[in-house]
Parts: sequence; C-alpha cells; structure tokens
Amino acid sequence: MAIIELKNVNFRYGSGTPFEKQALHDISLSIEPGDFLGIIGHTGSGKSTLIRHFNGLLRPDSGQVLVNGDDIWTASKDIRSIRFQIGLVFQYPETQIFEDTVAQDIAYGPRNMGLDEKEVELRVHEALQFVGLNDSYLERNPFRLSGGELRRVAIAGVIAMRPQVLILDEPTAGLDPEGRNKILNELEQFRRESGTAIVLVSHSMEDIAEHVRNVLVLDHGKIALDGTTSAV
Ligand code: ATP
Ligand code: MG
Repeated sequence: MAIIELKNVNFRYGSGTPFEKQALHDISLSIEPGDFLGIIGHTGSGKSTLIRHFNGLLRPDSGQVLVNGDDIWTASKDIRSIRFQIGLVFQYPETQIFEDTVAQDIAYGPRNMGLDEKEVELRVHEALQFVGLNDSYLERNPFRLSGGELRRVAIAGVIAMRPQVLILDEPTAGLDPEGRNKILNELEQFRRESGTAIVLVSHSMEDIAEHVRNVLVLDHGKIALDGTTSAV
C-alpha cells in the first residue's frame, strides 16, 4: 500500500482575494515504501506547496490526501500524528531552531510524540550519527553552527521521529559540490540502513539525479513528467 497518495489535488493561495493564485492543478501521485523520489521544478513551480500537502500543513481545495490508505482530512484523523509519520525538513533558512542546544533541538520532535526521556535520548544519539555529527555537537548552540551543520541538525530532528517517509525541501541549496554530495550520501546511507522512503525536492535535476531512483517534474503547479512508476 502507498504511504502517501494524492488524488486530483487542487490548491489555490488567497482564495477570493486579488492575489488568488492556483498553485497546484489536479495532482495525483503516490509514494511507496522504499521509494527514493526526486521532485524537480523551477522556482515557483509549486514544490514546497506540494510537499506541505503530504503531512497536512496545507489542505487541498479539492481532491484527497491519503496516508496509509486513510484520508487525512476526515474528521476523525489526528493531523498531529500524521506529522510524526511524514517527516518534513523545511527549505533552508525556513528551518526554525529555537532551543539552546543541539540536543534539545533534536529532542523536540520525539518529546512531542510523548516518548519517555530514555527513548528520546537514544533517538537523539541515533539521529546525530545518521547525519554524520558526533556527540561533541550535543551541547553546542545551534546559532553558532555552519549552514551545513545546521541543516544536519534539522534533518536529525526529523529522523529522530522515525518517520515512514523523510521529505527534504532543497536540502543541498547553497552548499558547494562537496557539501552537497556529503549530505546526499549520508541520506542514501540512512535510507539503506533504516528502510525509510525519501523524497528530495530540488530545482536542479543535476544536483540529485545520480542519487534518486525516480523523478517527478513539476511545472506551473502541474505534473509535467511522472517517473514514479518507471525508473528514469
Ligand atoms: P522555490 O524553488 O523557489 O522554493 P517552489 O517550487 O517551492 O519554489 P512554492 O513555494 O510552492 O514554489 O510556490 C508556488 C507558487 O505559489 C508561487 O507562484 C508562489 O509565489 C506562490 N505562493 C507560495 N506561497 C504563497 C503564499 N503563502 N501566499 C501566496 N502565494 C504563495
Ligand atoms: Mg520551495
């Protein structure tokens, strides 16, 4: 069964205002266990808008979003629990880090899930390892990290929730080729070891082509190419 399925999703910003803008047109797609999917598109094509539908941060005007077969917008569904299952790492620098230490930051998600402190600590260590940072980072102030390190902390915070899918919005933007490959290789290894499906959002096919298995191309809010069913 698909982890995420979108059926004929339409979405517009600012409905009924002069700024009304249809950002997604009739989008249908599915994300399966084990997927390594790239979502590619120019600036403004709707990538960030699309992935915000995956975990219920945005609600479609029409169409359906199913997670593990259930429509997430039926009244009985707990949207908060969906956000633990579908992990979203925001586009840098939208990443909001408020805590005093890296350890507190990464612990934020698992604590919200109601896990006990021992489990939280275990997950913080595990997540930090996955993103290639050692324990010396735990007590550091997030505001004194490099862009690449900060991004890793944000990724670790989502990994620590052990989501079924890890979605990353432009995880490599602004990094040099070495930094970019390092993060992508770490993600690839994380995927192999954990079996978590990964969705990478990028404006550049070149950046991610050698890492992902399938791609979906967005253009002006429409799917211009759907490579989710056959390898590209
Ligand atoms: P980028 O590569 O620059 O991050 P994107 O593909 O992620 O772009 P979106 O952020 O999804 O694009 O934006 C899609 C369209 O919706 C754009 O035309 C954008 O101007 C518009 N848009 C995005 N956010 C809002 C908002 N909060 N209110 C109104 N319009 C918005
Ligand atoms: Mg975006």
